[in-house]
Amino acid sequence: MKKIALAVHGGAGTLVKGMMTPEKESLYKAVLKSALHKGYLLLESGRSAIEAVEASVKELEDSHLFNAGKGSVFTSEGKHEMDASIMDGKTLNAGAVSLVSGIKNPISLARDVMEKSDHVFLASIGAMQFAEKLKYHLEDEKYFYDELRYQQWQEIKGTKDFKLDHSVKKDAKFGTVGAVACDRFGNLAAATSTGGMTNKQFGRVGDSPMIGAGNYANNKTCAVSCTGSGEYFIRGVVAYDLSCLMEYKNLSLQDAAEVLIQKRLLKLGGDGGLIAVDALGNIAMPFNTEGMYRGCKSSDSADQISIYGN
Ligand code: ASP
Repeated sequence: MKKIALAVHGGAGTLVKGMMTPEKESLYKAVLKSALHKGYLLLESGRSAIEAVEASVKELEDSHLFNAGKGSVFTSEGKHEMDASIMDGKTLNAGAVSLVSGIKNPISLARDVMEKSDHVFLASIGAMQFAEKLKYHLEDEKYFYDELRYQQWQEIKGTKDFKLDHSVKKDAKFGTVGAVACDRFGNLAAATSTGGMTNKQFGRVGDSPMIGAGNYANNKTCAVSCTGSGEYFIRGVVAYDLSCLMEYKNLSLQDAAEVLIQKRLLKLGGDGGLIAVDALGNIAMPFNTEGMYRGCKSSDSADQISIYGN
């Protein structure tokens, strides 16, 4: 049996260390751990990388602690508009949705776009009509409400600000979730889901649902899920660039990931991080922010759940 591996993230740009209490830290870690285990158990039982990443991301979407599904940030109009994408590294099939509301698990809708439509990316009303056709239950706004996210929105509501450093709490920026996996057949998959950025303008779409920007998987190279200032990840085509550095420059997963996050992204002015896995089950999780909620496990390494750098 080949090596299996899975990594999850709950966003770069965490609570600054001074604001993180031991209680909060253990809550975040517990959800990361259970998301990691959800996907990993599937891999262990021989299921595909796609099934594993969807299961892990659903677990994170169902927690109000992260900015995806329940707990998504507020838009400038006080709503929740979510984006998600998923990609299968074996077939290069992909599915994505953006600007969806009321959907409990946008990642499952993205998977349905991949498997049950002729398209890759459905947005806004079109994505909602597709969900309706598949008889998705719609949650009301209350389901997505989280007090911390609401307070973050109050801080900048009415301004044009959705900037990365708008909050002294420094946790308002990110919180996107994602998972990457390598299954026992060496197949890779990546999934990413987000509420986007607090006070984002109506219609704003970030990198998370964009294949090649915030999410990408290709068995030849890697599966990657990004988190950070989406506008820069789009401009840097970061997820696909990681794959390119490996495919065309022969860089290892770790070296390619470090170059992107610590050099190229910083040079553009962006901040954030990524999680990635290759077909040998190697894992990389670089970030250039103070922390990134993250966890990983493989057949030859035990669980690791961390928030800050060393
Ligand atoms: N990348 C996401 C976006 O720009 C935000 C995040 O990672 O939390 O929508």
